[in-house]
Amino acid sequence: MFYPLNFPRNKENEILAILKKYEQTGKKLTDGLSISRWQMRFVLERHQQKFNPAFYQQVNKLLIKTRVRSASGIVPVSVFTNGVGCPFNCVYCSNEPDMPKSYFSDEPAVMRAIRNHFDPYKQVQSRLQMLYLSGHSLDKIELIIQGGTFSFYDKPYREWFVRRCFDAANTNVAKLIKTGNTTVSKSIYLSQAQRKNETTSQRIIGLTVETRPDFINPKEIKFLRTLGVTRVEIGVQAPDEKILKLINRGHGLKEIVYATKLLKNAGIKITFHLMPGLPGSNYRKDLKMLREIFQNPNYKPDNIKFYPTSVVKYSKLEKWYQQGNYQPLDEKTLTKLILAFKKTIVPPWVRIQRLVRDLTVNDIVVDSFPSNLRQKIETELKKQKIRCQCIRCREIKSDKKSTRLKLEILTYSASDGQEYFLQYIDSQNRLYGLLRLRLFDNQAIVRELHVYGEVNPIGKRDQAKTQHAGLGQNLLYKAEQITKKHHINQLAIIAGIGAREYYRHLGYRLKNTYMLKSWQ
Ligand code: SF4
Ligand SMILES: [Zn+2]
Repeated sequence: MFYPLNFPRNKENEILAILKKYEQTGKKLTDGLSISRWQMRFVLERHQQKFNPAFYQQVNKLLIKTRVRSASGIVPVSVFTNGVGCPFNCVYCSNEPDMPKSYFSDEPAVMRAIRNHFDPYKQVQSRLQMLYLSGHSLDKIELIIQGGTFSFYDKPYREWFVRRCFDAANTNVAKLIKTGNTTVSKSIYLSQAQRKNETTSQRIIGLTVETRPDFINPKEIKFLRTLGVTRVEIGVQAPDEKILKLINRGHGLKEIVYATKLLKNAGIKITFHLMPGLPGSNYRKDLKMLREIFQNPNYKPDNIKFYPTSVVKYSKLEKWYQQGNYQPLDEKTLTKLILAFKKTIVPPWVRIQRLVRDLTVNDIVVDSFPSNLRQKIETELKKQKIRCQCIRCREIKSDKKSTRLKLEILTYSASDGQEYFLQYIDSQNRLYGLLRLRLFDNQAIVRELHVYGEVNPIGKRDQAKTQHAGLGQNLLYKAEQITKKHHINQLAIIAGIGAREYYRHLGYRLKNTYMLKSWQ
């Protein structure tokens, strides 16, 4: 009999008895019971036939009322690789013993990894089980591999790690929970696990890894593509040679520019990590650098994550701070910087994935800005009536949708190519779907196709929801037209493994890890 990873084994009967009591007495079940929601839902799912349908539905509704995480249509699953994972010594980076470099043992995602002994299968399965028990649909998964510089691990470890993640996704969570039994997927080859995932019910439609720009080269990209990687996060920190040297990054701007171009040409989406407040910088310099990131065609990433510099434990910066040689940005200056960025710099084709990193007071040496800075900035934006143009702020989420949408095409040059950003928006500039097309050296590649809204089960049509309502096909059709107009006779799509089937239905076939359509 199967138990979810982390479920206390002696508790099932106890919870069952409590639920039965509620059913028999007719007393209304409310929040505030000492049992966690996911545990109740586990028992409810497992013993569904023992309850009358009305009670089952009432409790289920109560238990799954929070659905925020899947608002962008995909459930994110973060996993950690084991070990130090990075041979460098950037001055701001923490080096907690036995933890992946730059991470702390008390961060929630790291704690999950520790509980699962950094085993990829267990990490993915336990996360999927949790998400399922919280009422999320698992049919589209974005797998995010964290833990320092991914490219530094040897190939066999990386291949094994990704294969086991796919195995976990190929093991049906709903069936496992409801029946206590299912076929546990265990493949021998990565390609075998991937092929299975193309048509399974829990598909990995995006795979992200984080690495350093100086580890990106054609060979590495080829390998990342065999793993199924669709997005790479690179530490850029600050586009300034002097600062990069001062913080001991071990690479310069040349590597950032080269990696950015190679990744874009391979169709891979790019997230830049940026660090305001680094040693050698100040408010004015930071603002100038942020402007440069989006004006200089050598950069122009698709997503950014801010990591405002914090003085963290186990870092060299901790010593600099104690010696009086470094002072982080204070809350007021950082807020001013982020507001100015949102107000005047951020283009509509970029997504601000993160504004601050969640660190606990145990991890930081100096409390320079609060952990709820994001909320504080949201409030300030509203007060000053500033509307951030970034993708994240415009995504439609579960708000009331409009039926009058307009297709807008924005173009910009980047890394010796031309980028086309196609977006479906309504009159309030809210975003319903987007496509990134890149033309370079007589080639065309779709780097991203995303339709927003609640997750719609694969294959089911629902007019009230945006996914599968034709927006995706329309965007792709438009991308094909643009490609043809430029006399390019084939279009490639970087598709996550679990999205391949979708493109097959649209006339694309698999070639060298890309989905491809040709015409004369
Ligand atoms: S490359 Fe990244 S993980 Fe490695 S030391 Fe620098 S910041 Fe830390
Ligand atoms: Zn925004």
